[in-house]
Amino acid sequence: MANAFEQVNEYVQIGADLIDLSDELRDVIRTSHREISVQVPVRRDDGSLLMVRGYRVQHNGARGPYKGGIRYHPSADLDEVRALASLMTWKTALLDIPFGGAKGGIAVDPLGMSRRELETMTRHFTDRICHLLGPYRDIPAPDVNTDAQTMAWMMDAYSAREGYTPAAVTGKPLDIGGAPGREAATGRGAVYVLAAACEHWGLDLGKQRVAIQGFGNVGSWMAMELAARDVKVVAVSDVNGGIHNAGGLDIEAVLSVVRAGGSVVDAAHADMISNDELLRLDCDVLVPAALGDVLTGDNADEVRASMVVEAANHPTTPEADKVLADRGVRVIPDVLANGGGVTGSYFEWSQNIQQFRWKESRFNEELHAKMIEAFNAVVTFAEAHDVSLRTAAFALAIERVARAETLRGYA
Ligand code: GLU
Repeated sequence: MANAFEQVNEYVQIGADLIDLSDELRDVIRTSHREISVQVPVRRDDGSLLMVRGYRVQHNGARGPYKGGIRYHPSADLDEVRALASLMTWKTALLDIPFGGAKGGIAVDPLGMSRRELETMTRHFTDRICHLLGPYRDIPAPDVNTDAQTMAWMMDAYSAREGYTPAAVTGKPLDIGGAPGREAATGRGAVYVLAAACEHWGLDLGKQRVAIQGFGNVGSWMAMELAARDVKVVAVSDVNGGIHNAGGLDIEAVLSVVRAGGSVVDAAHADMISNDELLRLDCDVLVPAALGDVLTGDNADEVRASMVVEAANHPTTPEADKVLADRGVRVIPDVLANGGGVTGSYFEWSQNIQQFRWKESRFNEELHAKMIEAFNAVVTFAEAHDVSLRTAAFALAIERVARAETLRGYA
């Protein structure tokens, strides 16, 4: 199988073909502006030294400062981080926010690490990439296995060198410059898009049975937002497995188990299923909200949902994408579906720079407007060119980035 970066570049190529992009501009967007790989030493609580590798890839900065999350995961190698950085370029362009695309990662399993070890690792990683960061250079945010606390440590490590700079990082805790609404923004944004999609295709959102793979920040906020709209969430899962109830899960009950430190599989009133079974479940909307490469050539023909909402980044391989398209399954691509996160980061960054705080109601209104604007642009383009939403999203985003590269004189 092609690696994640090659796969994302397959999508880039299809989008570039549609808009007849020049070979020169293709060369510019196919690779990253800048990549760094750093050694991150962590003194463990038992006195031993753990050496891990960290990466930051700045894929494209033509439209603004590089922007993207930091993930802690054993699979975070250079190709994966490149793929995710490239997706950020297309996501920020599609949502039309003034950022480029970047991503960072540390190849580590953080689940068995103590809070002190995580803090040390985060501070050392930040020290080693600090010269590339800044509110007008590159702005990190949370991603898989990182959260507001991680961002607080990053912001503090950056500020210790440069002076107090909350706008250097987004997804921070509210007490130190975070924005009310940012934590929920990815999940909420995905529900805004799902609601718009249902309206566009004449489907009743209230009648959709939704299965969500992953119950981290994105999956859990989506579940809450759907439950608040009386939409049935029939299955959710996490690393330990999943639960299913055809009549709809009690999301509040699942959340209280998870908030107490448990797994979704500990919640009552549901049947146990595996993550694989969840992907093949009898439902209307399937939401991969965890890791990449979960819908592949091996299982795409078994997906029973009629719509896939990609809340995770790169959950669908190009091979699976073709199978789903041939079968008439509607796929709302990651660069659109989960764009609420970075859009919320843009609002947080703007508030930090202006030193003016918005109420959460304003944040959600602006988020809704941005998501609907992007959804409408993608659907209009897709229908005009008779292509998938993914191809339309990539084509629109590539057009915008290519224009910026040309205007700035690089291609
Ligand atoms: N990690 C999120 C994403 O993949 C958010 C990135 C950001 O806010 O910079 O979109």
